[in-house]
Order: sequence, then C-alpha cells, then structure tokens
Amino acid sequence: MTTPDFSFTLAAQHGQARAGTLRTAHGEVPTPTFMAVGTAGTVKAMTADAVRATGAKIVLGNTYHLMLRPTAERVARLGGLHKMMDWPGPILTDSGGFQIMSLAKLRKLEEKGVTFRSHIDGTAYELTPERSTEIQHLLDATITMQLDECTKFPATHREAKESMELSIRWAKRSRDAFVKRPGYGQFGIMQGNVYEDLRRISAEALQENAFEGYAIGGLAVGEGQEMMFSVLDYCTDFLPADKPRYLMGVGTPDDLLGAVARGVDMFDCVMPTRAGRTARAFTSNGIFNMRNARFQDDTRTLDANCACLCCTRHTRAYLHHLFRCEEMLGPMLLTIHNLTYYQNVMQGAREAILNHDYDSYCADVRGQWQRGPDA
Ligand SMILES: [Zn+2]
Repeated sequence: MTTPDFSFTLAAQHGQARAGTLRTAHGEVPTPTFMAVGTAGTVKAMTADAVRATGAKIVLGNTYHLMLRPTAERVARLGGLHKMMDWPGPILTDSGGFQIMSLAKLRKLEEKGVTFRSHIDGTAYELTPERSTEIQHLLDATITMQLDECTKFPATHREAKESMELSIRWAKRSRDAFVKRPGYGQFGIMQGNVYEDLRRISAEALQENAFEGYAIGGLAVGEGQEMMFSVLDYCTDFLPADKPRYLMGVGTPDDLLGAVARGVDMFDCVMPTRAGRTARAFTSNGIFNMRNARFQDDTRTLDANCACLCCTRHTRAYLHHLFRCEEMLGPMLLTIHNLTYYQNVMQGAREAILNHDYDSYCADVRGQWQRGPDA
C-alpha cells in the first residue's frame, strides 16, 4: 500500500461551517475534529485504548515537554512518538514556542529564536525555527507546526505588527527546514492579535510558503469569547478554502460550536482533560462539579446521552465519592467522559453540517446545556 498524500477534502459546507476529511500517512480524520492533548507522550490519566474509545482520531504532543524529557533524539531511538505512546494514528505536535513563553525560566526571544532554561532543572536550551522543525521530525509528528510568537493580549497595533512579522520570518525558516514526506504536513500559524489588517497580512504572507494547513494563533489568550468570535469572523476568510484551519488552544464546547460556525476545522485544548482531573464534567445538560454534595446520593448516570465507560457503568454518587476520597479513578473516569463528550459534540456537528442543519443543531445543544443536572 502506498502512503497517501497529505490532503484535505470538503464534503459539505453549511454557511461557513465545514465538514471534511484530512488524509495523512497515519490515517484519516473526519472534520471538524477535536484533538486530545497528549502533553508528554500521554493523554493524562488515559491509556491509548481509552483515548481511542472516546472516538478521538488525532492527538497532540508538546514539543517543549518532549524535548526536555525524554528528549527528541531518545523518542526517535524508541521508534517515534506513535510507537512510544501506542498511538498509530495522526499526531500533531506544537512548535514549543507557546509553552516556552508560559513555562520556561529566563527566556529570551531574539530574531534567531528563543533561548530559555528548563523549568525542571534549569538546563539552558535554544529553540530556533529550524530546531523546532527538526525536533518535530524526530518525534515523527504527522503534522508539524511552525515556530511562532504568540502575541500577548492586550497588545498595541505596533507590538502586534512587530510580533506578527517575526512569526512570518520564522514561518519561512520553519518551511525551509521541513523535510517533505508523503502523508506528512506542516501548518503555518496566523498571528496579528485582534487587528484585522494584521491578520490579513499574516494570512497572505503565510500562503507564500504553501503550507498543508493553517492555524489561527493568538486567540483564547484572555480576549473573551465575544472578541474571539469577532476576530474569527474575518480570519477564516483570509485563509484558503481548500486547506484545513486549526484554532489553537480552544476551548469550551460552546467555543467549538461557535468557531465551527465561522469555518474552523480543528481544535485542541487541555480543558476536557484538565477539568476531568478537577471534578468538572462537561455534559449534555451543562457543566457539573462532581464534588458538589448534591450528587452524593444521585444514582443516575452522569450523562444519559453518553455511551462512554463512565456513563454506562457508574453513578454520579460513585464519581462524587471518588473525588471526595481523591481516588485516581475519579480523574480517569471523568477524563474518559469529558473527551467522549467533546468527540460527540464534534461528531454531531459534522453530521449536522452534512445534513445542512448546523444552526438548529447548535441551538439544540445550547438549549440542553441550560437544563442543569436535575433535568
Ligand atoms: Zn460519558
């Protein structure tokens, strides 16, 4: 069997909302899709089988964490990230830049790249566009991200422009360093903060590199949902229709529905996994805190519309008990459920787009969230 080319095809569009298929060396991904975050070569609290059972088709790995431990070279010696984490499907890795700026110590950003010290042991590192691309190759990432600078929010027009221009120069260097292989792709990252003219310039400049896909970066950094949606309203128009669009680091189920309506195809966020470890459940009837005493005698299933292991085998009262006792099964079960819920929302969105019924799907899902745990 020959490896398919990396491709993206649209099956349907309803308004701006798109249903498509991403084809890669490691399998196909129906879109819109949510990528579970597998930070350090593991989706926290989940076996690879459990991740698969949620319906996930693609996961994300973090370059920053993996370059520190166990190092990209060691991952390569161990057979690559797919083999190491028992995930033969597609993997997208980030460039490392965002986490350096949020986690690393003594970081310094210059034209050539970023120098920083590890938050673990203080060791000095340098990450350039070329090295980030090389690391992602060593990890065997199906989708490589360019190194960029995520502009802070708020930023003045001048700050946002200078930062965006640096990301454009780094996009070219990342692209030049990328080794093209059948079924593998590299995404450029649009920046420009909340300024429409800068977003347009960024999108146009990125396309000179003919990336296999485009990410929208620099959102969900404190601007709020209303502003994020108003930026997305024009951002997706600046990107080519025949390439996948990935909104980085977003978000709540409501954010996802709104972004899909604005033409986004791919998402990643730590929210369902992190919330699962802290007793927050995303359900058809809204967000519950499983530590709440209201659940201590509640023998109902967590979410009657969910077929996950947590919802088919356990009660709300048991989940409440597990979190009260800080048993590790609580985070495991709730991570399984939250990721399944996110996948269900995206799968429902896809079906609705294919049926040209996306608006009423969103209205139904949002209406149900208002009903609360006693519905
Ligand atoms: Zn469930």
